[in-house]
Amino acid sequence: NTPGGSRPDTPGAKKKRIAVMTSGGDAPGMNAAVRAVVRMTIAKGCESYAIYEGYEGMVKGGSLIKRMTWEDVRGWLSEGGTLIGTARCMEFRQRAGRLQGAKNLILNGIDALIICGGDGSLTGADLFRSEWSGLLEELVKTGELTAEQVEPYKYLAICGLVGSIDNDMTGTDATIGCYSSLTRICQAVDFIDATAYSHSRAFVVEVMGRHCGWLALMAGVSTGADFVFLPEKPPGDDWEQDMCRIISKHRGMGKRKTIVIVAEGATDNKLNPISAEHVKEILAGKLGLDTRITTLGHVQRGGNACAYDRMLATLQGVEAVDAILESTPETPSPVITINENKIGRKSLQESVKLTQDGAKCIANKDFEGAMKLRDREFEEYYRCYMATTKLDDPSNKAPDNKRMKIAIVHVGAPAGGMNAATRAAATYCLSRGHRPFAIHNGFPGLVRHDSVKELNWLTVDGWAIRGGSEIGTNRSLPSEDMGMVAWYFQKYKFDGLLIIGGFEAYHALTELYEARQSYPAFRIPMTCLPATISNNVPGTEFSIGSDTCLNSLIEYCDAIKQSASASRRRVFVVECQGGRSGYVATMAGLSVGALAVYTPEDGINIATLQNDINYLRQSFAADRGMNRAGKLILRNERASKTYTTQLIADIIREEARGRFESRTAVPGHVQQGGTPSPMDRVRAVRLAVRCIQFMEDNYVPLAEEGVEAGKGCVDRPETAAVIGIKGASVVFTGVEELKQEEHTDWEQRRPRRGFWRDLKNIVDTLSGRRGVPDNL
Ligand code: ATP
Repeated sequence: NTPGGSRPDTPGAKKKRIAVMTSGGDAPGMNAAVRAVVRMTIAKGCESYAIYEGYEGMVKGGSLIKRMTWEDVRGWLSEGGTLIGTARCMEFRQRAGRLQGAKNLILNGIDALIICGGDGSLTGADLFRSEWSGLLEELVKTGELTAEQVEPYKYLAICGLVGSIDNDMTGTDATIGCYSSLTRICQAVDFIDATAYSHSRAFVVEVMGRHCGWLALMAGVSTGADFVFLPEKPPGDDWEQDMCRIISKHRGMGKRKTIVIVAEGATDNKLNPISAEHVKEILAGKLGLDTRITTLGHVQRGGNACAYDRMLATLQGVEAVDAILESTPETPSPVITINENKIGRKSLQESVKLTQDGAKCIANKDFEGAMKLRDREFEEYYRCYMATTKLDDPSNKAPDNKRMKIAIVHVGAPAGGMNAATRAAATYCLSRGHRPFAIHNGFPGLVRHDSVKELNWLTVDGWAIRGGSEIGTNRSLPSEDMGMVAWYFQKYKFDGLLIIGGFEAYHALTELYEARQSYPAFRIPMTCLPATISNNVPGTEFSIGSDTCLNSLIEYCDAIKQSASASRRRVFVVECQGGRSGYVATMAGLSVGALAVYTPEDGINIATLQNDINYLRQSFAADRGMNRAGKLILRNERASKTYTTQLIADIIREEARGRFESRTAVPGHVQQGGTPSPMDRVRAVRLAVRCIQFMEDNYVPLAEEGVEAGKGCVDRPETAAVIGIKGASVVFTGVEELKQEEHTDWEQRRPRRGFWRDLKNIVDTLSGRRGVPDNL
């Protein structure tokens, strides 16, 4: 049931042959990349090949270079590692090996290559392309191939996908596999956390990263570790005392456990390695802590890919095929990147060079240079991390007249990462000399019970990893009793407000903003940090909690898909949450390979159902019972009032006439997730710290204002803003602008146009659903 190609073919013309390979260390998500490349290649009317065992397969040729069909990659999204194999190949480092590789590509008629691997693999690819014409000349000269044989292959198109758990490629924020690896590390540290607490122990955890400390830093940020050692940020000469001072301070404040994370390539500033063993000796010897070491090793590569890696690999795989089809002999080979939320292309050669420069900087003790070559996020995360753990740094304090009282409130349903955001905001406030206050149980908690409590470091310290909402959340809006809300704001003399939550949180902010005219208490900087599984807040493409939700949902979908393997011909109609936003259903559809996604934005009609039932018939008939996994249709809970999940399943069963079965599956609140995902936790930290910085930037102490209290804020509407990730940037957008009809669909409670809407086409293309005739 290979869908027809969308590329008009000239009769008799040779179709472009695009080969895909994985190389270097395996990384979760590589299979998703291969699946996307194979299916997109076929959907574009080209021929797909896989080179097994990385460069080894290219050099050896024969059965290691295989034609791929649509069916070959079925079910690959949920598999860990790489199913086409990978290897480290010494021969390819030599010209003779590359010559052999070139010959094998030509013998197989391959004219384009997509390589998913780390910087080594992409360096090899870059070299290969630069040598290509010389290799062809040599093959002809030595009589290995004839001039006619090489003639159609004068130009080899190459595109790189960065697959590596280390996240060590310059120019991209994330590599395929890094968030899955971080997930594994955080799971391990979360487990250790409980035992460390029970025995009041210290744990030194060694994680991967020879030249790059991304995994160690992010693990530190997301688990609230007490100290981290990174290769690109070696500690100063007195690091032993420094570490002991910070840890003693944490212990002195009542903390019962200590976690130190060491990247395997960590050194001091003279490049002497800092080993986990050494750190343990100091903690035990100088602080008398009962200290254990945990070296995580290869578990960090293990398991299936998290939702983000599946989406990233899928979208980047699709982009790689587009890049190949658009390439010309003049265009430099690209590597596919992501910056914040935007997939892009950069020069492969340039990215590889900058990455190698980073390693050289470390070798030359130019640590500042190495830090600059990391992506922008890295430095910011490092600063956030330090600000939330190193609390007594006088140089970090705000001037006395700029110290603020900041209120934090949760509004709406709980979402993963709300607590991490609250912790980060509070600890950052404390490090700057501000006073953070929690308003418990939302605005009703404030007006009914005066439930305001000042937050201290120990109270919030354990919140980094917890799901739900520690300070309690409520959906009610301040307009229920605006006068009382203002009265309490005045009572506590809040200088800034952070609202964490979903669409209601955004709505609450617009209400408070509008009430500024009547109530001077609201003439303070106010921000909304979007936190909702539905990801339906205007002003951002990402809400914290949505990643946790997707991970819970894909785990659920993987399980039911597998459960169908015994009966084979089964379709599940899965009901996804997301309110009136189809984001969760669509992104989960990309990550699990759904046959179809039904969203409230597009609705469901009889023609859609008819079309999909036809496709199911066709698809089950074609695989003759060979398909060992079920098929999934993801239906958002509010996609249609008429076509309920049950009704769709019933219609499918009726229409299947015994040829296949259907079932409903309703994961419900499972989707809110238990422990928040590392991505939600780290983004929560970064965005929360930015929100407090926004308040600092917009705070005008009364004494300085000299005029009417809060006038500065009234005159500047942008001081009430939503923080968001938009394209490649983190931005604040004022609610005055956002609340306009062109940005907010108030009736449907979602942004006017979700950035993800077009991704549904990719789900359809990769499931083969597109272009299915509905008259079968
Ligand atoms: P990881 O990030 O997991 O280490 P990697 O791609 O960097 O992945 P490497 O072992 O460095 O892993 O490279 C993988 C393969 O790429 C090598 O075994 C070799 O075949 C090829 N390769 C690496 N560097 C070069 C080079 N400079 N010239 C030619 N080929 C190379």
